[in-house]
Amino acid sequence: MSTYTAAAFNQRSQPRLFCIGRNYARHIAELGNSHPGRESLVFIKPPSALVNPGETIHLPDQEGEIHHEAELVVEIGKGGRHIAPEQARQHIRALGLGLDLTLRSLQTRLKHGGKPWERAKAFDYSAPLGPLTPLDSHQDLTDLEFSLHVDSHLRQHGHTSHMLIGITDLISTISDSWQLMTGDLIFTGTPEGVGPLLPGQSLRLSGPGLATARWHTA
Ligand code: ZN
Repeated sequence: MSTYTAAAFNQRSQPRLFCIGRNYARHIAELGNSHPGRESLVFIKPPSALVNPGETIHLPDQEGEIHHEAELVVEIGKGGRHIAPEQARQHIRALGLGLDLTLRSLQTRLKHGGKPWERAKAFDYSAPLGPLTPLDSHQDLTDLEFSLHVDSHLRQHGHTSHMLIGITDLISTISDSWQLMTGDLIFTGTPEGVGPLLPGQSLRLSGPGLATARWHTA
């Protein structure tokens, strides 16, 4: 019988998805959450959560309300551990826009029960990710804007200057707990305006200097 150990997967070809919670003050307020202070809130989704641009997002139908969270996404180019904030920019390969889909009613129930969030955050199709654009040397990471339209209605608009913990500090913080590797993705948190999605809707995520992504829900 041939056997193998899980360590074989150390030579992985799939990215990890690091997600940041509570990184915009107005979003914290709209959900009535507590402020995380200086400690960033990090959770992880598996690569199986990814949905490519143009693909159908299949919404789970038995777990209550599902919310869109539009987010700026950073792709890591050069890996590293204990990356200093001043060096963090050099570790970025590309930027993109993505959705951190959340089963909100389930998450609320799990949170109140003091239980882990995975079932509400890390399910299949929970991380639609648009095309990635290589980081331009002129791009100011604190001056990036993005918008989510659902059926042509503006639902969310974000600006990275409103982040509580900026992109380079996030990379630094995550790299203190995990050795970042090429291809890892960081979903940097959502601004206010999160709300429910329904089957049959069309979604458009866009921003100046960033590639536009479109999906349909089913
Ligand atoms: Zn989020």
